[in-house]
Amino acid sequence: MKFRIFKQVPRIIYGEKSILRFRELLPEKASKGLIIVDTKVLSMIPKPLTEDKDIKLIEFNATKGEPYTWQVDKIVDELANYFPIDFILGIGGGSTMDIAKSVSVCLKNSEKSEKLQGWDLVKAPGVFKIGIPTIFGSGSEASRTAVLNNGTKKQGINSDYSMFDAIILDPSVSSGIDKNTKFYTAMDCYIHCVESVSGTMINQLSEGYATKALSYCDEYFSNKMKQEELICVGSYYGGVSIVNSEVGICHALSYGLSIEFGLRHGLANCVVFKVLEDYYGEYVSKFNSLLNDYEIILPKNICSNIEKDKMKRMIDQTLMMERPLLNALGSEWRDILTREKIEELYLRM
Ligand code: ZN
Repeated sequence: MKFRIFKQVPRIIYGEKSILRFRELLPEKASKGLIIVDTKVLSMIPKPLTEDKDIKLIEFNATKGEPYTWQVDKIVDELANYFPIDFILGIGGGSTMDIAKSVSVCLKNSEKSEKLQGWDLVKAPGVFKIGIPTIFGSGSEASRTAVLNNGTKKQGINSDYSMFDAIILDPSVSSGIDKNTKFYTAMDCYIHCVESVSGTMINQLSEGYATKALSYCDEYFSNKMKQEELICVGSYYGGVSIVNSEVGICHALSYGLSIEFGLRHGLANCVVFKVLEDYYGEYVSKFNSLLNDYEIILPKNICSNIEKDKMKRMIDQTLMMERPLLNALGSEWRDILTREKIEELYLRM
């Protein structure tokens, strides 16, 4: 198999308090910037960043749900009358980082974000952007994808230009996040790695990253989720792994739950993963025992009694995820994961 050429994030700073070193990563002469920060973590961001007069601050309330295209467009419109932005810092979880990536490319491409959803539709480089995850697991810091919901579909802007120009992996910025959110997000990383190593697109490059990330996840979960440096690096490795392979059935199904029920990505993945024992066997058993250990109670029977239309849209959304399904099940995936099978799985969630 001939592998595609993938870009990776060219510059990384790692370590406690490394967030304070962000100016070392900026291009020469960059002075005016924008911070897009999750409201929930705003108080954890060091004052030198939030009180800098050359930096405009925009809050994104990630607890309200996953990012929509209209939210990106609104920010871009607001910035039209502002000073030219030399750089953007995206500080928060996967959703906030996806907003930052999207704003960066929309600012330089004069397009509504919806028009850029898909593969390689971005024509010009975006504003220089740095990703700073404050909750670890989404892998958004490592990937080309900026996933947005446009009201009818959830799809990424996938481009070399949507990838961060630099990232800061600072385990010290994650304090104050509740146990369940940490669990769901770290589990997103675990699931990326499981889908990567179990898929048909696996290769030595991806396997190395995914295997190491899985061992970091194991250590993190067996140690009361206290060693943030493990999941901070694990999330990045998991992200690199799927950039060079692909996700699988769990992600394909979870998008349907997010679109129709507004479930956050990490939680939606957990709800789906629980019923995938036929595909990811031992990993699902391990996941179930972690649910027990951490006393996590997932929502149940979410899809029972839903209208036919809703189920149809969820199945359509799943079937749109061709690459992940090809990765998970091979070229015959359409015969294996039929509409009936998808409905059966949704009804078990
Ligand atoms: Zn994910």
